[in-house]
Amino acid sequence: MEKLTHYPMVISSELVTTGSEDLIDPASGKPFATVAWGTKADVDRAVEAAKVAQKEWAARSFGERSIALLKFADALEAKSEELARLESQNTGKPLKLSLGSDIPFAIDNLRYFASVVRRQEGVAGGEYVGGYTSYIRREPIGVVGAITPWNYPFMMAIWKLGPALAAGNTVVIKPAPNTPVTTIELAKIALESGLPAGLINVVTGGAEVGEAICTHTDTRMISFTGSTRTGKRIAELASPRVKRVTLELGGKAPFLVFADADIEAAARGAIPAAFMNSGQDCTAATRIYVQNEVFDQFLSRFTELTNGLKFGQPFEDDTDIGPLTSETQRLKVHGFVEEARQQGVKVATGGVLPEGDGYFYPPTVLVDAPQAASCVQEEIFGPVIVVNRFTDEAEAIHMANDIPYGLAASVWTTNVQRAMRVTAAIEAGTVWVNDHLPIASELPHGGFKQSGIGKDMSHYALEEYTIVKHVMFDTTGDQKKAWHSVVFDA
Ligand code: NAD
Repeated sequence: MEKLTHYPMVISSELVTTGSEDLIDPASGKPFATVAWGTKADVDRAVEAAKVAQKEWAARSFGERSIALLKFADALEAKSEELARLESQNTGKPLKLSLGSDIPFAIDNLRYFASVVRRQEGVAGGEYVGGYTSYIRREPIGVVGAITPWNYPFMMAIWKLGPALAAGNTVVIKPAPNTPVTTIELAKIALESGLPAGLINVVTGGAEVGEAICTHTDTRMISFTGSTRTGKRIAELASPRVKRVTLELGGKAPFLVFADADIEAAARGAIPAAFMNSGQDCTAATRIYVQNEVFDQFLSRFTELTNGLKFGQPFEDDTDIGPLTSETQRLKVHGFVEEARQQGVKVATGGVLPEGDGYFYPPTVLVDAPQAASCVQEEIFGPVIVVNRFTDEAEAIHMANDIPYGLAASVWTTNVQRAMRVTAAIEAGTVWVNDHLPIASELPHGGFKQSGIGKDMSHYALEEYTIVKHVMFDTTGDQKKAWHSVVFDA
């Protein structure tokens, strides 16, 4: 039998293999590589390496850090095709998505943070107390623990590494257990590009390694992307040590189609919104609410477009939707559909487990599900969308917000006043008007309610990875200060 490629961890400048686990290709259900499996001792080594490296890295000027990160971005770009292929093999996502979007967008994100750090500033001095001058510094936090999910492994890693490193921190990162390959590769490329050892340390493994990162005394911040359930656990682990946390968690985005919308545009827009990355996207439109008057028109066009999608092998050019990440995920997704069926929810298309190898699941449209049903309230994280109806604006807003999540939403209307009212009323970190999904490195991404705390991307993310310090100078040299005499006579 052919020997499988092995992916070791990267700790400081060393490639480390503690244990070994198979990595499964979701398109075939068969192992395609093996990966090291870290332990708490590996986390200790990685945090120590990151701690040592951080002092020297933080001492570099903004410009020096920027140049080093731009070189790293160039090195990633030179290998972007290889990275895209690995990402698709490891996750099952279509190559056209990895190559055309995930990898280049992540590299753009890194370049953005390499640039924007040069614009970083504290607040200039001021005399807020007579005889004193104050100024505000923004300092790095130290060693950041980063924990990422399986849906966009490379992009999520870069979303954390970019702002963390630009701000002068170093990172110990744990990718999801089943999708570690591109995170390991990027850490090797970082070293090759000249970034100092210890800046990016990758420890692979599951919850045990994640918890060791969260509870280590020397990780000063935990930057997490993943499910709301794990996010709550991370907040719990961080709280006794009063660690900074940013949590990018689950979503269940509403997609509101008003009768005055361009219905063809809305139906077309709903396709990528619902099915990009097989619906394994935290901002995916998963609840489409359509005003009664245009419900049938929308549903028929949307179902027709859904039926035209091709789900299949990631490396074929005409594949729109690849397999789900794992058999566990596929069964979870199908479980939601089966439960909905039992509740009497209509399945307009899809909803049947395909035969054969790989973790494929067809694009599925559920219709008229009760608002309280789990297919409406819970994150399915697969190509399953619910289309429901509403009567008026107030009801649309109520249903959009009637959920624990608040990551993203979209409003489809040609009425500007309505668009302004509804975008203001929706509780979500991003609200699009007449589109759903586009993002940019300059713009923040992060949730309201149980979708999280803090922001990825944009200058807001750079701020998340810094700590504010107030420095106050006595400018008089006078030993007898007026404010002392408020209490003390001396
Ligand atoms: P998950 O919560 O199961 O796992 C995420 C990461 O946490 C993995 O690396 C996992 O090994 C680790 N982990 C698990 N238990 C842990 C513990 N007790 N302590 C520390 N680490 C632990 O999530 P997932 O299934 O990998 O990813 C899908 C989820 O990610 C979805 O809920 C999705 O909405 C969310 N997501 C959110 C965003 C966002 O920006 N808000 C982006 C992408 C994905």
